[in-house]
Amino acid sequence: MENLQEKVKKVQAQLQEKQNMYIDGEWVDSASGATREMINPATEEVIATVADGNESDAAQAVEAAYRSFYQDGWSESYARDRADKLFALANLLEERVEEFAIIETLNAGKVLDDAIYDIHDAVNQLRYYGGLATKPNGQTFDVPDNVQTLVIAEPVGVVGAIVPWNYPLLMAMQKLAPAIAAGCSIVIKPAETTPLTLIKFFELIDEVGFPKGTVNLILGDGASVGAEITRHPKVDKVTFTGGNATGKKIIQASADTIKKVSLELGGKSPLIIFDDADFEAAVDHASFAIFSNQGQVCSAGSRLILHESLHDRFMEALVALTKKIKVGNGLAKETDMGPLISKEHFERVLNYIAIGKNEGAELACGGNPIDGKGHYLEPTIFTNTTPDMRIVKEEIFGPVLVVQTFKTEEEAIALANDSIYGLAGGVFTNDSAKAMRVIKKVRAGITWINTYHNTYNEAPWGGYKQSGIGRDLGTYGLDQYLEYKQINMSLNVAPSNWIKNRD
Ligand code: NAD
Repeated sequence: MENLQEKVKKVQAQLQEKQNMYIDGEWVDSASGATREMINPATEEVIATVADGNESDAAQAVEAAYRSFYQDGWSESYARDRADKLFALANLLEERVEEFAIIETLNAGKVLDDAIYDIHDAVNQLRYYGGLATKPNGQTFDVPDNVQTLVIAEPVGVVGAIVPWNYPLLMAMQKLAPAIAAGCSIVIKPAETTPLTLIKFFELIDEVGFPKGTVNLILGDGASVGAEITRHPKVDKVTFTGGNATGKKIIQASADTIKKVSLELGGKSPLIIFDDADFEAAVDHASFAIFSNQGQVCSAGSRLILHESLHDRFMEALVALTKKIKVGNGLAKETDMGPLISKEHFERVLNYIAIGKNEGAELACGGNPIDGKGHYLEPTIFTNTTPDMRIVKEEIFGPVLVVQTFKTEEEAIALANDSIYGLAGGVFTNDSAKAMRVIKKVRAGITWINTYHNTYNEAPWGGYKQSGIGRDLGTYGLDQYLEYKQINMSLNVAPSNWIKNRD
């Protein structure tokens, strides 16, 4: 049996070869020949070099997807065949979970166990949508006039998918699997910092075999490649996961050609803890909610809303637990929290910590970078905050928790909803009626009672308010890639006689 170190070495050796894009069924370099180095955030070492595309590469990928869908017959592919391809992809990925997870850890700094979980989840997404591809998707209506009305679902066409760096392969599968199930052709762009697992996945796409141009991988930055996808007239639908500033640009860029757009954006999600909560579980989940994946989670519980009477005891336990979090390289067995994704992001999070201090919030623990190579930061908690502080209002997207207190249920709900975001939220209480009452009033799309972060591909994923438009996952996620057509068929072919006086 190979040990982990040997497996990592093998993966690193594979990554030495330059990684390319996959356009029109071929592995291709960027037209300009430009490349980009991939940095391991745990060591700051270069681990791979990838092709760096530009607008013309993106346009070429879109043209290929367009031809595949509109001219070469992919729009008329059979659901059964698409399902078979998704199951085949799931099986191939499942055989290589560890290899993909190691790449994810090397590229995104994830804790290896988390990366393994993510790849299994990606396998499940492929299977889920493989299953859904062949399920009923129409309706019939009983209407007057001797007409039969039916509704059929058809693929929306060419899909441009743009994904972020925090769950690189998972976010990509979340778009790719339902788009394939629906019968769309696709151009997908990973974040410029974390393309390695998706590039590897395209080896599986190549192995399973899709008609040329049906599934394309384009690499490059947002301002060139991403923007081209969002404005290209031959893209019918843009599906995006990422930050709000980019989301706004995407709405603007796609406005000219009225594309269908769905957006999964940021959050500043509240976790409300009542005084009757299971204390140990609540402390543990408060920590998990913010510090898992280094806080780089759109649905992170980044605002802890604590019942006033609990505050001192809860904070003492939470700080003690936080100090036990082991920060380090995601490949090490004992690591709980890895590095932040990049130097730039690390500095952005540090800047928020400085803002918090200047605003007068009190550091309960953490707040410092950890010396040495790698973008490591101590898990950080601010207390004594007020709702107007920037650290309370803005998404930090790092391991920084802000604590607020409340006296009444109404106050807890008001604090929870005092945000431009509405992605996620949670409540801990042993009073089940109160739990349901409160969670129903939290204006957010993904919620939890007496737990946090567990999510399932069967259920819709997305946000209220400025956290986005539309839903990924579940049947809702398939819907994004479908157009609905009503067909009204006369059962008695006869003139309409619409002209009153024909004689
Ligand atoms: P980002 O918006 O900077 O980048 C996301 C993707 O958009 C990248 O592939 C990037 O290259 C591309 N992009 C950048 N500018 C573009 C442009 N002008 N046109 C088209 N594409 C462009 O976000 P990020 O920093 O990679 O990810 C972090 C953000 O993503 C956080 O705000 C987080 O909350 C959000 N997120 C949301 C969800 C969700 O499901 N709601 C999930 C994960 C992350």
